[in-house]
Amino acid sequence: MAALDIAIAGGGIGGMAAAIALMRQGHRVTVYEQASGWGRVGADVNLTPNVVKALDGLGGQVGAQVRRDGAQPTFRISRDWDTGLETSRLGMGQTAEQQYGAPQVTIHRADLLAALAAEVPERQILLGRRLKSLVQDDAGVLLQFEDGSSARHEVLIGADGIHSRVRSALFGEESPRFTGVVSYRSVVPSERVQDVPEIDAFTKWWGPNPQSQIVTFPLNQGRETFVFATTGQDNWTEESWTSEGDVQELRQVYRDFHPDARKLLDACERVLKSALYEREPLAQWSQGRVSLLGDACHPMLPFMAQGAGMAIEDAVVLGRALAGVALPGVPQALQAYEQARRERTARIQIGSRGNQWMKGPGNADWVYGYDAWAAGLLA
Ligand SMILES: Cc1cc2nc3c(=O)[nH]c(=O)nc-3n(C[C@H](O)[C@H](O)[C@H](O)COP(=O)(O)OP(=O)(O)OC[C@H]3O[C@@H](n4cnc5c(N)ncnc54)[C@H](O)[C@@H]3O)c2cc1C
Repeated sequence: MAALDIAIAGGGIGGMAAAIALMRQGHRVTVYEQASGWGRVGADVNLTPNVVKALDGLGGQVGAQVRRDGAQPTFRISRDWDTGLETSRLGMGQTAEQQYGAPQVTIHRADLLAALAAEVPERQILLGRRLKSLVQDDAGVLLQFEDGSSARHEVLIGADGIHSRVRSALFGEESPRFTGVVSYRSVVPSERVQDVPEIDAFTKWWGPNPQSQIVTFPLNQGRETFVFATTGQDNWTEESWTSEGDVQELRQVYRDFHPDARKLLDACERVLKSALYEREPLAQWSQGRVSLLGDACHPMLPFMAQGAGMAIEDAVVLGRALAGVALPGVPQALQAYEQARRERTARIQIGSRGNQWMKGPGNADWVYGYDAWAAGLLA
């Protein structure tokens, strides 16, 4: 079976995972990334057991490297914001390993990207190439870039994030919706929060309304602690992973939270602030030999911590859908891929918006027990 010549627009988490998954099936892959390099931007990525399992199956050193660079929270705990009352607790670490075949791993976004990029030969990643437009014809897909260059490939996967050019080329322009919620992100050395109980767990302090919360978990083998807080604030609309926020504002917003939650905020020396955007589930992801993946087709609020995870699961299922497929079979294989993924990702998009996930006792199996390597896929 001849290998397909596949272009991926976007070298983020989803694009790089897709590159590996497609290469493993013997396809020739070229990644076009708009950035000129990967800075250490962003902060956490929370990889729940379903996602670590998906990464493990990619082979190479991916699974080992994320375990080495990340941390493995002991439990996933929910607490009331004011009383501190525990409202749910799930065993992670060894317990998740036994139950789901993989632990939860919390890791810096840059470390996850590095683990993925290490598996893709450098010559297949073209940096500084921002996709501008595309034209699909019988011979393939013509990609045109902002720098005036162009390239032709047989298949195109749009992994170009929430403002996806590929998505708007296929289905028209439509802006993401500002949710009225902002997030604060901070990474603090763990020795500064030693007196907070169970600092090695993933803990979510549920606020007085669904927009308000403080989440904390270990990073970097526990040497650092990540603090992620959200609140309703409709006068800040800047979407950025690098904008500085104000730590005094952070402490003020959550001043009525339980003292253990406030201790986390007291330890923050600097904080990043970003407005949160999302979109409605998309009814169709593919057209001919072009499809979408990750935030390009299902950007979501971070309340179930599945944004990066869904992109990685997509990548695995996409690789499986295109296994052994020759050029004429591509449109049908892409249909099978999106059919396998649309319902789950839409359910998680909607669930993330509602922000009730594991607030009380419940069964997490439908999210954490999903196996992208075995999930149903029409032939
Ligand atoms: C810089 C950044 C930091 C983030 N930090 C966090 C975080 O700390 N915690 C968290 O939970 N989530 C974070 N996210 C969101 C989370 O990572 C996403 O839900 C998840 O990564 C989805 O993966 P994706 O590959 O679909 O999209 P993205 O991660 O958004 O990746 C899209 C990639 O496509 C590239 N791209 C965009 N347009 C074009 C174009 N026209 N041509 C070529 N390339 C293009 C972008 O530069 C980017 O590398 C971050 C996202 C970004 C972009």
